[in-house]
Amino acid sequence: MKLLIRMNYVLLVILFLIISCSSQQDKYTKARNEMVKEQIEDRGIRNKPTLDAMKKVPRHKFVPPNNIDKAYNDSPLPIGYGQTISQPYIVAYMTEVIDPKPGQKVLEIGTGSGYQAAVLAEIVDSVYTIEIITELYNSSEKRLKELGYKNVICKNADGYYGWKQAAPFDAIVVTAAAEHIPPPLIEQLKDGGKMIIPVGSPFLNQTLILVEKNGKEITTTSLLPVRFVPFTRGD
Ligand code: SAH
Repeated sequence: MKLLIRMNYVLLVILFLIISCSSQQDKYTKARNEMVKEQIEDRGIRNKPTLDAMKKVPRHKFVPPNNIDKAYNDSPLPIGYGQTISQPYIVAYMTEVIDPKPGQKVLEIGTGSGYQAAVLAEIVDSVYTIEIITELYNSSEKRLKELGYKNVICKNADGYYGWKQAAPFDAIVVTAAAEHIPPPLIEQLKDGGKMIIPVGSPFLNQTLILVEKNGKEITTTSLLPVRFVPFTRGD
């Protein structure tokens, strides 16, 4: 009899744990779907792979624990070392502009939390991502591995020089504001490839620029005023 009561108790505890775990899950899924609808679709993003990827990637796992409740807010958030995870809309916008497709290879400069890399990895074949701050490189590489993103390859280096051994890339996404477009990145873009990069003074006026390469012709188009953390340089 006593054993039976104890077993019932254990079953109840297990049931409680399952229910509270899945309601946590539901809470984040709901917040994520609302984020995509209200902050992204309602502002005009229509690219289906981008919307699907952003509905899938668990953004709350890319922010520090003290900010987890703000993970789906309409804003960037601090990730330590003076850096930020970009606002969801900006991640969606940059992803839509490069129009990523299955089978492609993309380079990202500024891994940060790894969130933009994960969004891209949901769509393309492989994502090469470079982070200059060693601590952020370590934590994002670990996070991406734990979340099962086997198609993201991380490197701790100055992204100004790109990733020559893995070039050329179908697209390049730069998530820190540079004062000029690094020539090695233009070189490493495929013919017909697209790069999106914030260009401007640190913490001041910056513009998201689309760079397109067609043969020897390079065209640039100014898209949107933005504010990104600065593109820093290694020694
Ligand atoms: N894409 C990130 C946002 C990162 S913020 C995310 O989804 O979370 C920009 C990042 O660029 C910072 O982590 C910063 O350390 C990094 N960074 C700045 N200059 C860099 C450089 N020259 N090479 C590589 N990373 C750089």
